[in-house]
Amino acid sequence: MSEPAPTPSDDALRAWFLGPRAENAELLERLLVEALRDHVFWRRNHHPEDGFTIHELDKRREAYDAAVATLTQELMGLLAELKRGVPFFSGRYKGHMAFEQTIASQVGYFAAMLYNPNNVAIEASPVTTRLELEVGRQLARMIGYDPASAWGHLTSGGTVANFEALWVARNVIYFPLAARGAADELGVRLEVTGPAGHRAPLASLDLPELLNIPAAPALDLWDELWQAAPRERVHDALLRHSLQALGYQDYALRLSEAFGDPLPPSVVLVAASAHYSWEKIVRALGIGSNQLVFVPLDDRYRLDPDALWERVVDLTHRRVPILACVSVCGTTEESAVDRLDLVQEVRSRAETELGVTFHLHSDACYGGYAAALTWDAEGRRRSAEELRAEFATGAEPAGPHDVRTREPSGAWPSEGWVRSMEALAETDSVTIDPHKLGYIPYPAGAIVFRDRRMRELVAIDPPYLLPTQGLGSSEDLFLGRFVFEGSKPGAAAASVWLSHKVLPLDERGYGRLIGRTVVGARRLYRALGEADLEPFRLVRLPEPDINIVCFILTHPSLGSLAEVNALNEGVYARMSLSEPGAQPDYIITRTRFQTPMYDGAVGPVLEALGTGTLEGWRSGGKAGLVVLRSTVMDPFMGFAGSGPDHTAGFVEALRAAACEALAALSGP
Ligand SMILES: *Cc1c(COP(=O)(O)O)cnc(C)c1O
Repeated sequence: MSEPAPTPSDDALRAWFLGPRAENAELLERLLVEALRDHVFWRRNHHPEDGFTIHELDKRREAYDAAVATLTQELMGLLAELKRGVPFFSGRYKGHMAFEQTIASQVGYFAAMLYNPNNVAIEASPVTTRLELEVGRQLARMIGYDPASAWGHLTSGGTVANFEALWVARNVIYFPLAARGAADELGVRLEVTGPAGHRAPLASLDLPELLNIPAAPALDLWDELWQAAPRERVHDALLRHSLQALGYQDYALRLSEAFGDPLPPSVVLVAASAHYSWEKIVRALGIGSNQLVFVPLDDRYRLDPDALWERVVDLTHRRVPILACVSVCGTTEESAVDRLDLVQEVRSRAETELGVTFHLHSDACYGGYAAALTWDAEGRRRSAEELRAEFATGAEPAGPHDVRTREPSGAWPSEGWVRSMEALAETDSVTIDPHKLGYIPYPAGAIVFRDRRMRELVAIDPPYLLPTQGLGSSEDLFLGRFVFEGSKPGAAAASVWLSHKVLPLDERGYGRLIGRTVVGARRLYRALGEADLEPFRLVRLPEPDINIVCFILTHPSLGSLAEVNALNEGVYARMSLSEPGAQPDYIITRTRFQTPMYDGAVGPVLEALGTGTLEGWRSGGKAGLVVLRSTVMDPFMGFAGSGPDHTAGFVEALRAAACEALAALSGP
């Protein structure tokens, strides 16, 4: 692989982080002190006529001294304890999706934290609520939504963001049904556009038709209903018919009374690689985990669009409504990027051929920031060819032990990768975690809806936070009205905002940063392919779509999958902080591929391992397949010859851990 030459923006990259040996300590210190001093000036100048509350003479008293001594002592204790934390900043940490944070985000957080704004409502965060909405627009632009009609905000993380996506999706999908009941009651006639583009009177639609109105016409219907009668009456009528108010039990009873048709439970389609939070979410929303339908993966760990189409056809024949389809951009285990463009095609085809639609969501909690790669500084899309020329990762030569996939390995990124990123613009909602590939401190997740009207379907007005009447957009700045969470840190918004200012969401900033991590991941991937680990054999999973490298170690003496799993568990135990007191030189993590989720993907891996068949793996149940996993979020891995050679060190650590693990397996 020919290394791309460092460019000026690679030099900028060296100013973005504190650095593995705190090389930029002076910079960070200067900015933190600046933020603190500036805050102090603010306090000093706030009503100076008030005089002082704490006097210099108070500071000479014994109890004051004692309190300061306690504080100092306890802080020393805390600082010492904290050193047992995880060295995310080090090139030796190749575990979970965590690295250090940008200096911008650290300083932004600290500066705003001194003011402690609460982004639940503008009156508690006059500055940071605006910053949060600006971040929402920045992310919307990166996704490819029109920032003027989209709406995004921050959450405490991806789980809550995904929860909100499905909460909103459910209310939008069920809304035409509630609107039908409310319109009948109010005696108003409305029309609505169906999935194939035909307009029809709302009153003429049957139950399946009412449940298959695409989001845009459903939201038009929302607007028209509110205009058709006095607001109070619409409000009350909707409450009598909406799932939100009735809850699932009453709702199902009403439907079978009204339509003589007990509705089969609606399902949520998710890629089989989906994060486990989806199971929590369907349980919490009362949808039920039985209604979570996994769509099989292909052998690159991406949702299989053909299998999706088959599921949609089958569900339609069984009259099962589909609430949503969740596709993943950057899977948690493998960083695989679903072919979202093909998933979107499946939905279009379902609309025209089957009269069926659903909310399309991209869970881009991990991979969303990679969309920054597809934009240049002028806001134009970059082609796959341009990106390949810039990052020059080259095609991966196939090794003798490699997993054979249908799509051969090639230079990164593929045309399909770029089309998938562009297809984010076609979804209804996207979740992105700034606290993952945004390199922002926790807590910072985000959700963006393509159509800002969607938030109205979950809006609630608490009496003590009602917006002032007649102030125009003030309603817009009262986030608590539209989001699941209440109090939330304005500091997180300032943190993300400042980081986006320093690292723009295009080729100059996050695109450059993430591109470098892809180069680093590929260097590690190649090094693992070339490593001579005799007598061990290392089987790499297919090359990553972003920056997570997965592999499995085996040894000729291991005949069964259970033994191979045990070897890899042993390697993990020696290269992680899972055991108390462990001090591994390099840190990795592991995952477990399980049936039936990974049935579509795991066949070629078992073949390359030469241990067992797909049937054998399936009958192994929960034991699954243990896979070692390394996330490369360290951008400095992407430069050859600068800093320590963590690839070679990593391979050596792997060999040592494998030898020990094997010895432990065979016993004394
Ligand atoms: C991490 C992750 C989540 C959950 O995000 P949290 O911030 O940990 O709640 C959801 N989906 C994907 C794909 C993820 O990688």
